[in-house]
Amino acid sequence: LCGGHWGDRLKKVEQLAQSFQLYPLATRYKPRLWQPSSIWKVFPRQNTAISFAQSCKEAVHVFALEKEKTSQGQRIYLVTSYSELWHYYRTYTHSLMHCYEVIPEGAVCKLYFDLEFHKPSNKGADGKTMVSSLIQYVCDKLMDVYGIECSAKNVLNLDSSTEEKFSRHLIFSLQNAAFKDNIHVGRFIHAILQPVINKKQAEAGELAESPQTKKRRQEEKDLSFLQVKNKDGQNCLFVDLGVYTKNRNFRLYKSSKMGKNSAFSVADDNKFTAKAEKGMSVEESIFLASLVCNVSFTGQRILTWEVPETKESKTLRPHWSLSGSQLSPHQEVDTFVLSVVEKDGIQGSIRRWNYFAAEQLLVYDIAKYRWCENVKRFHKSNNIMIVVDLKEEVWYQKCHDPDCRNFRSSSYPLPQEICVSYIMTLDEEDQAYLMDDAGNIEPSQTANQVTQSTVCSEEQSSDVWGDTQDDQDYLKSLNDFEQNSGDISDQLLLNCMAEFDPQ
Ligand SMILES: [Zn+2]
Repeated sequence: LCGGHWGDRLKKVEQLAQSFQLYPLATRYKPRLWQPSSIWKVFPRQNTAISFAQSCKEAVHVFALEKEKTSQGQRIYLVTSYSELWHYYRTYTHSLMHCYEVIPEGAVCKLYFDLEFHKPSNKGADGKTMVSSLIQYVCDKLMDVYGIECSAKNVLNLDSSTEEKFSRHLIFSLQNAAFKDNIHVGRFIHAILQPVINKKQAEAGELAESPQTKKRRQEEKDLSFLQVKNKDGQNCLFVDLGVYTKNRNFRLYKSSKMGKNSAFSVADDNKFTAKAEKGMSVEESIFLASLVCNVSFTGQRILTWEVPETKESKTLRPHWSLSGSQLSPHQEVDTFVLSVVEKDGIQGSIRRWNYFAAEQLLVYDIAKYRWCENVKRFHKSNNIMIVVDLKEEVWYQKCHDPDCRNFRSSSYPLPQEICVSYIMTLDEEDQAYLMDDAGNIEPSQTANQVTQSTVCSEEQSSDVWGDTQDDQDYLKSLNDFEQNSGDISDQLLLNCMAEFDPQ
């Protein structure tokens, strides 16, 4: 190759790389038969996004996006399905690369950890050994407390460390078990880490240690490896205990914090392998495994960590324990379920409920009332379940009797007054952002632009793509490039892309 020819070609590739950067070639999301249809709505407020997601017929979820070029930390809220988010996620990196899963209040979820320490303040700390010791300790405790078998192979280990900071996420995919919600996860973790939390408080003089406590502490496994120093040289924990709060935002696989260039990737000491479904890339299956609330209702065990109810918590949450039954956040649905489990003078009660956010299912375990549609009579000892499908707006009965294991009754419609779609009417002003075909999420000009799906249709998109001349030039250079690209390596293309990355 002579120099001039090569130079021209390189220039052309660079130009192309630039236009790819500006207008990534995203194909429109076309759901397969089993995938949800397109829903893509962006809201300025989290609560509106959550209400909207609950009212959708499709299995959609709420994600928080940190918006570029705004004051640090400003977030907007995207409602879409897992498959559609994944479809656009890798293309629209400028809009979607700082993306967080919103862990809905009360939703069944996986056990998860956020781990970090400041490297310069902890010289000699071996992060990998700390992670593997923690995993082993948590697995032992899962066995002690719940009798659940678990090993490092169940734990997806994600890394977003930098020179400054060691940073990991651990997501436990337990076999046939999940936690009732992230509050229960937090209580479990607080409880099993109590020895090292007490030690920290004792050292800080916050806790006078009785001789018994001291003895018990010495008998506990040594958890001092979880103690690290923060930037100011003060003691703190390797485990962030602040991530188990209501509607917590948890950063996604392949996302980075705003202004940081360290996205979560699979750690090199990860031992988890995601089960790839047919036609799904390994990366997508890791993405799905990393989602804390991606738990389907399979009749699995739901783990809880109850705290003794104090006077204070009773007054704070008066609706949680009412006439002996545990009520869910959807009280109108609870009332309806109670009306369903009443027959022949027997009034059933709600023993417990679990909320599967991924499928919008409320699963009620019923006490006292055992009428089963499968056997057409009352069971003597085994209890029944009432499953309410909030997106389909139906309910059906399932059963704990071993003979009825795979039974599911017919579906019956929910009364319209308790359907979420009836209660929730979307105010157009609530949705103030739109995404164009180039993946830019911007405030909408007028509320009238709000359409069912905010990804523009083909006809609407022409102005986004520039005038016809640009389109023709673009297509021509793309065509030239494709015909001549045989001897240009992927690595060179990637280098060009990286060089022209505006970040
Ligand atoms: Zn039955």
